[in-house]
Amino acid sequence: MIELVDATKSYLQGRRVVEAVRGVSLRVAGGEFVAIMGPSGSGKSTLMHLMGALDIPSTGRAVFLGRDLQSLSDSQRSQFRRTRIGFVFQQFNLLPTLTAAENVALPLMLDGIARRAALAKANDRLKQVALDHRAGHFPDEMSGGEMQRVAVARALIADPDAVLCDEPTGNLDTITSREILTLLAALPEPDRRAVVMVTHDPAAAAFGTRLVKVRDGRVESDDPVRK
Ligand code: ADP
Ligand code: ADP
Repeated sequence: MIELVDATKSYLQGRRVVEAVRGVSLRVAGGEFVAIMGPSGSGKSTLMHLMGALDIPSTGRAVFLGRDLQSLSDSQRSQFRRTRIGFVFQQFNLLPTLTAAENVALPLMLDGIARRAALAKANDRLKQVALDHRAGHFPDEMSGGEMQRVAVARALIADPDAVLCDEPTGNLDTITSREILTLLAALPEPDRRAVVMVTHDPAAAAFGTRLVKVRDGRVESDDPVRK
């Protein structure tokens, strides 16, 4: 479903060129829950951004469901992302002035779907993450775990083919982390949906079905997780 072919991503830092990702080839199939681990600065987030069409490779290719992402314009790519891919970040990234349901519904409303219909769907998604009783609450009235549930519900709003998570438990305690990871682990569907998660935490990675270790912008190892 997601394929990187000899993908490289370089950034200019002042006059220095930093190769964050160096010639990575990687395929992720529906049904997989791929954990990506590696030291700080090893290129994990960049790799996730390439997989999620947040960014395009400097050289090589990123292919999502057979679509070559670099052949899309920025606005096509952003439309593609909104409809096909859900994102979960460490900082939750909820808008403080919107309720839980409004935060979840926002991607649909941005896509032109009427508020009522979008909110109805948002409430279904909040039910899916066992948070429907908080639909009318604002982020500052919720715990970290609840905010991350809202973020997961938002990531699922368009029924995406992939859910990409960047340190989703980085701001959560152990018990809450396990709840979020259990939720994420239930999302992959064979031949349909994949989950990719960047994490520092080996206990979080253990929830995955596959562990990719990254070092200096390259894939160091890529193995199934033994349960
Ligand atoms: P990780 O997620 O493993 O910490 P990143 O992918 O964030 O690694 O970063 C890999 C390298 O690329 C680092 O050296 C980082 O400084 C650099 N980098 C990442 N994003 C940018 C950017 N937008 N501009 C410049 N350099 C960047
Ligand atoms: P970090 O990896 O430094 O903790 P984030 O994971 O919050 O930062 O964001 C990484 C990148 O993803 C940023 O370049 C940001 O612009 C982008 N981003 C953050 N949130 C979203 C979002 N909800 N949708 C699309 N892109 C986002």
